[in-house]
Amino acid sequence: MTTIIAEEILLPDGWASNVLIEIDEDGFIIGVHTGTANPSDDAIIIKDPIIPGMANAHSHGFQRAMAGLTERASGNKDSFWSWRKTMYRFLENITPEILYAINAQTYVEMLKAGYTSVAEFHYLHHQKAGVQYDDNLELSLQSIQAAIDTCISITHMPVLYCHGGFNNEKPGQEQLRFINKPDDLVEMVSKLSDKYKKKDSVEIGFAYHSLRAVSMDLIKATDENLKSINYQNPIHIHVSEQLQEVEECYDLFGQRPVEYLLNNIDINDKWSIVHATHANKIEIENLAKSNATTVICPTTEANLGDGIFPMLDYLEYQGSFAIGSDSHVSINLVEELRWLEYGQRLITNQRTLIQSQELPSVGASLFEGALKGGEKSLGKKIGRIEVGYRADMIVLDGNTPALFDKHRDHILDSWIFSANSNLVKDVIVGGRWVVKDKRHIREEEIFKLYQEAIAKL
Ligand SMILES: [Zn+2]
Repeated sequence: MTTIIAEEILLPDGWASNVLIEIDEDGFIIGVHTGTANPSDDAIIIKDPIIPGMANAHSHGFQRAMAGLTERASGNKDSFWSWRKTMYRFLENITPEILYAINAQTYVEMLKAGYTSVAEFHYLHHQKAGVQYDDNLELSLQSIQAAIDTCISITHMPVLYCHGGFNNEKPGQEQLRFINKPDDLVEMVSKLSDKYKKKDSVEIGFAYHSLRAVSMDLIKATDENLKSINYQNPIHIHVSEQLQEVEECYDLFGQRPVEYLLNNIDINDKWSIVHATHANKIEIENLAKSNATTVICPTTEANLGDGIFPMLDYLEYQGSFAIGSDSHVSINLVEELRWLEYGQRLITNQRTLIQSQELPSVGASLFEGALKGGEKSLGKKIGRIEVGYRADMIVLDGNTPALFDKHRDHILDSWIFSANSNLVKDVIVGGRWVVKDKRHIREEEIFKLYQEAIAKL
């Protein structure tokens, strides 16, 4: 058992001082004692502020290696769609070894930023031209192994991708690595769930790529199929990221994408809707009431010129939200949370927007909101320092100008809005120190593998 004495720590009902935390051999919290701390001699005393680790609810790990390579004008009007063409070219040469190395590097960077778990939205399944690997789980296994080896907790989500676009469009040559029959994907999910059922840090989810890539008929049939295998885990889907998608959907079905999805499928708290950037007021209200979580990825949505999610309308209906670093143009949870608020300030000409009467601190509202949504979105006992939850925690560097003499919610406000360097000092995942003094325990060897992989690309 590991025992920690925290001088200042964020618990589910607020900040507390001198708290004793007990963690069992499996990495779960088995005791949280306030006020009456009576430590054993080997208790670890932490004077710096401790907060729960954050969930990264949307990741395409391999895209990290192309971050920064798409910032030059191509001569045409660049958009999400021209970026997507570059991404398709980029992934042509990704082999299992290269995928492992890139994802491992990505996960090291996530951990150093304070993300202790990740939902990996995994749509790269096959070899070039769609040729299957001997084991069709090959790339999933590499991605999960990268998470295990870097000690991030993962909800791995094999993605169903059937069509090249709306109206059952035939997939392009460059999309063949993503394509599966629905039954095959359900079988892959079932096999992976069996394989990792005893591994606490690995959960297997399911994802539909988008309404473009999977027709409503197929989503309905697959949803039934998932029920027949008693599937209870999270389901994710990209919706309404781009205006072109909204227009195409409306032209074909007379409904906007979020509306179309909500009208046809029983969307509930198991679902995460990724982006929903262009949902209108009615869609936002119904999305919030469905109890699904919306995963917002502010740095990617800014980088790709997607747009700004109508967060204030969504919060009016107490909508659940989580954050994701998606394309990994930035792996920095401070930046995601900061820009979630700043986007709203820029379009409303007002300040201090994401908050409530009970929680007037914007930093605390953002951080605690994303923790709650992250727990739902990843389908794990994470995001709370509480008995029964995984011991995933961040220790912030209190010995810095930004945090000097800051306490309680001022810590979160100062970290999120005024720190310009990474203040994540230690990261504990499942009770284990994975980042110590700002260094990941395997960072040199993982970086070496990454360098070799990039040389091959
Ligand atoms: Zn995505």
